[in-house]
Amino acid sequence: MTYPSKTSSQAPSLSQRIQRFSQITLVMFIFVLGGGSWLLVHNEQSLAHRQRLDHEWKLQANRVTTLITTIHGELKKTAHSSLISTALVDSAGKDAYLTPYLQGLSRIEGVPLSLIFADFEGKEIASNGAGGFTNGHIAWLRQLLENPSLTPVAIMGTGASAELIVAELIYYSRTKTPEGALMYKVKISNLGDPNAPLHWKDDGFVPEEGMVWHPLALPADLQPLGLSLALKEAAAAPIQLDSLSYLYLFTTLMAVAIAVWVSRRIAENLTGDLQRLSDFAGEVVLTGPGSQRANLGETRETTKLAEAINEMLDRLGHQHRSLQEESETKFRNLLENMPGAAYRWHLGKKSMDYMSRGVEELTGYPAADFLENKSRSYSDIIEQEDRNIRTAGKNTLTHVWEYRIRHFNGEQRWIWERNRTCHDDDGKQLYLEGVLFDITERKHAEEALIKAIRITESANLAKSQFLATMSHELRTPMNGIVGMAELLTLPELENDIRKTYAKIVFDSSKNLLGLLNDILDISRIEAGKLTIIESPLYPEKIIQEVFAFFNAAAKNKNLKLESVCETSCSQSYLGDSLRLRQMLSNLIGNAVKFTEHGTILVQAKEVSSDADHVVLEFVVTDSGIGIAKKNQEFLFNNFSQVDSSDTRRYGGSGLGLAITKNLAELMGGSIGVESDLGKGSRFWFRIQLRRLEISKSDRDQSSRPVTTASD
Ligand code: ADP
Repeated sequence: MTYPSKTSSQAPSLSQRIQRFSQITLVMFIFVLGGGSWLLVHNEQSLAHRQRLDHEWKLQANRVTTLITTIHGELKKTAHSSLISTALVDSAGKDAYLTPYLQGLSRIEGVPLSLIFADFEGKEIASNGAGGFTNGHIAWLRQLLENPSLTPVAIMGTGASAELIVAELIYYSRTKTPEGALMYKVKISNLGDPNAPLHWKDDGFVPEEGMVWHPLALPADLQPLGLSLALKEAAAAPIQLDSLSYLYLFTTLMAVAIAVWVSRRIAENLTGDLQRLSDFAGEVVLTGPGSQRANLGETRETTKLAEAINEMLDRLGHQHRSLQEESETKFRNLLENMPGAAYRWHLGKKSMDYMSRGVEELTGYPAADFLENKSRSYSDIIEQEDRNIRTAGKNTLTHVWEYRIRHFNGEQRWIWERNRTCHDDDGKQLYLEGVLFDITERKHAEEALIKAIRITESANLAKSQFLATMSHELRTPMNGIVGMAELLTLPELENDIRKTYAKIVFDSSKNLLGLLNDILDISRIEAGKLTIIESPLYPEKIIQEVFAFFNAAAKNKNLKLESVCETSCSQSYLGDSLRLRQMLSNLIGNAVKFTEHGTILVQAKEVSSDADHVVLEFVVTDSGIGIAKKNQEFLFNNFSQVDSSDTRRYGGSGLGLAITKNLAELMGGSIGVESDLGKGSRFWFRIQLRRLEISKSDRDQSSRPVTTASD
């Protein structure tokens, strides 16, 4: 993914910027250094020249001043004497020529000055007569002016009447002429020409462009003449040193400022951007990748760097989000799919702020019902008497609770809950986070186990009691047998007594044998070795046989033995008649044993059948002592007797019902009892037999097994 930047294509590169800045700086420095140096050198030269000119000027000015003063003085004198003499002397200082001219000159102040010029030969070359200077004068003056040595310029006169005089005192001598005049060698030129360096303009002379005007300080008595001087070579006039310094200083400062600015710009461009980006990176490290964006830098490089960072951030953010989503999904799936339910209980709000989907299976209510107590609080479905269990021990860090809830479908469920208290940094309790599991099955298994253990324990106890009983039961007939056998050995015994003794021995042996048979049967059953041997079976006949067996005992107790057989009882079946007889004997025997008066009723009927099989039910009802409800469930366990005192009273091993139950189950049936203490009992059992059509003659032989017993 790329992130186009609006600035990246337009922004110059950092190297370009630096290059540009350095070029500017270099040019500025070259300019400043070159210009400054040139100015300095030039200024030095100008200064020297100026000083030289000033010096010369001063000299010339003095000379001119002196000359003019002298001339003026002479003129004054001449005016007084009305004579002016001008002498030209030769270069050797010797008077070359003296021509006195007497002209009607006016007074110097306020009147035109007349001068007479003579050449070296003494000839008059010019005068300031009425015609003024002639062209010849001017040419001569120009010639003079072209002479570089002729620099001083005198202006005589004021206002429009002023004249510019260039004069050079070549030589003068104070030698007195015979007339008493001084001799001078004076060159004077007039620059009234428009081409001259000075021009009369408006109310004064202005120098030619580029020339500098210097007022000439004249003695006080000459000042009314308005005499001034100008210097030639104005073009060489020096530049003002102060301005140059300022310029130089200004330029230097500018260059320094530019250099500082350039360096700062570079620093800002480089380090500023980098610093900002580095600060930004630090911030991202602290806060993690989010929606932050690095500001684009000012150079192409930093802009690109910022773009790269932003792209990296986007990718990191994207990865971060997908990882977060993935982990959240995993976590949520884990929570949602785990057995039981997970939750978070907000202690402040006293409500669930998270509950996994599993709670619906657990309670029958959707998880959303419990969130923020929307429809109900979780505590509402806890059984009233168990609510204290869950609120106890809240100050501990972890809790484990087992309690019952009422499921939406009305069932009671056992819940195992384990949670942990979560705190904030200040130790304040915020949440309880925990899990809930349905342990109903486990609880039921536990209850069943406890019950089984109790049963086993009571069976063990019964076994111990049985052993005690058994030894008693075994000893009783054995005592009878041994005692009577001993008596039978006496010599003079009457026949009747001997018979009685023998009968007692016989009965005791029968009891003993019955007992031993019971023990043998139960041990066979427990070993899984007892098998059902099928033979034709006639229920009615078997009932009568058992009745015949207990007839005497019943008679002794004045009990009636009755049987009610439904028509099917005459039907023949295929089953184990021996074991059926044993089962009926046990029940009828017990009924006789535990009934003092009344009737013992035996019923037999078919309760269900199909083409091949039939289920027969036998019921033995008595009006005996009955059995308490609490004792009924243990009755069919081995060695179980309701009461040991009863045992003593009625005898018995406690194996009869257990054997009957096992036999009924072996025959595909079941056994049960309904009894009220003191009112009597109703024992029943059902067995599954095969239907067998058999002739009447065969019925008489029914007691003979048709299959051989494995035992
Ligand atoms: P026992 O040989 O002791 O009779 P059983 O297994 O046949 O052994 O009977 C177990 C116990 O059940 C008896 O000891 C007696 O306490 C009780 N019992 C059985 N049948 C009856 C009955 N018809 N009336 C009252 N109690 C009975």
